[in-house]
Amino acid sequence: MLVSGRKAEVVDAAGGTFVDFIMGWGALLLGHQPSAVLQALREALRHGTLLGLTHPAEVELARLIAQAVPSVEQVRFTASGTEACVTAVKLARAHTGRATILTFEGCYHGHAESVMAHGSAGIPGVLARETLRIPYDDLDALETTMRRAGDRLACVIIEPVAANMGVIAPRPAYLARLRELTRHYGAVLIFDEVVTGFRVGLSGAQGLFGVRPDLTTFGKIIGGGFPIGAVGGGRAIMRRLAPEGDVYHGGTFAGHPWSMAAGVATLSAVMTRAPYEGLETLSQRLAEGLQEAAHAHAIAVQIHRVGSMMTIFFSSKPVRNVDDVKASRRDQFARWVAVLREQGILMPPSPYEAMFVSTAHTALHVKRCVDASREAFRSLADG
Ligand SMILES: *Cc1c(COP(=O)(O)O)cnc(C)c1O
Repeated sequence: MLVSGRKAEVVDAAGGTFVDFIMGWGALLLGHQPSAVLQALREALRHGTLLGLTHPAEVELARLIAQAVPSVEQVRFTASGTEACVTAVKLARAHTGRATILTFEGCYHGHAESVMAHGSAGIPGVLARETLRIPYDDLDALETTMRRAGDRLACVIIEPVAANMGVIAPRPAYLARLRELTRHYGAVLIFDEVVTGFRVGLSGAQGLFGVRPDLTTFGKIIGGGFPIGAVGGGRAIMRRLAPEGDVYHGGTFAGHPWSMAAGVATLSAVMTRAPYEGLETLSQRLAEGLQEAAHAHAIAVQIHRVGSMMTIFFSSKPVRNVDDVKASRRDQFARWVAVLREQGILMPPSPYEAMFVSTAHTALHVKRCVDASREAFRSLADG
């Protein structure tokens, strides 16, 4: 149990301090309690809690997102990433007049029925049948499925860099081919950038790969530590959202003033301070340190990193999809996490969750993590 967080560290109920690599599951790009966010919140508090209609910070946050992400002309806010994905899928179904959606094993788009159809109990079979699912980054499976079902797909929804089976980036040509195929078959391409948005760069993974989706979902970082989600895209499709269009969307807390204020403060800081180079340098140093430490003790690892998000898979084979993650040594992963925790370093407890470096982390935090990992790898080598 954690009781507080400040900069790159968290404190647990027993008073222990830990260097935090969970970082709000990726939401805290600027670390815990960044001063820009605290100041914006103090200001927002003076204007009330919930206003009930559109307010200036909501317009400003939408403007910042559209400015940073070229495929986004219009934005709608929700209270969570889950709702953003629900809204994107519903929009795609309305836009195409089709029901079936294509998803990928190991990707996560929140816990709503359609996208969770194969990952949870309690979902009617009729919905599951409309949710196709194929392996991630498998071009043959993609080509085959699109040939067979492309013309009845409302959308394809994908994490352009997977962050919920650990960090797995698709091979470079994959997303470009996905773009061609979805365009050919008239299916809406949705990039779920709830994690990667403003994490891997200002324009997200779509900027990194140079592929333009029809719709993008956001969450996590854009709320500056507060509940948020957003769906954005071109006007032609976004216009279908109510009240202008016929696709219903609502939410008592959607566009909450405090989330918007924290989000504006965060994105403003990111857009003026351009933290990505610094994050890249620090994260690279961490990845290299972990790699060398593992190598020194002959522990087989695959370290995947895209910018400041990374995962260490304990595996001697390349990790390309969720089956490879399942086949990795999760016992070794758990041991590494446990040894690090003893040494005051907090890692996500599972290789399915990415670890995150924030702008609050320093070279010293990285060194402490590498040193502690060396201990962990030594203990693993000793059996
Ligand atoms: C976290 C996450 C979501 C869901 O967001 P919530 O705010 O937790 O509902 C959706 N997609 C991806 C890729 C995520 O990582």
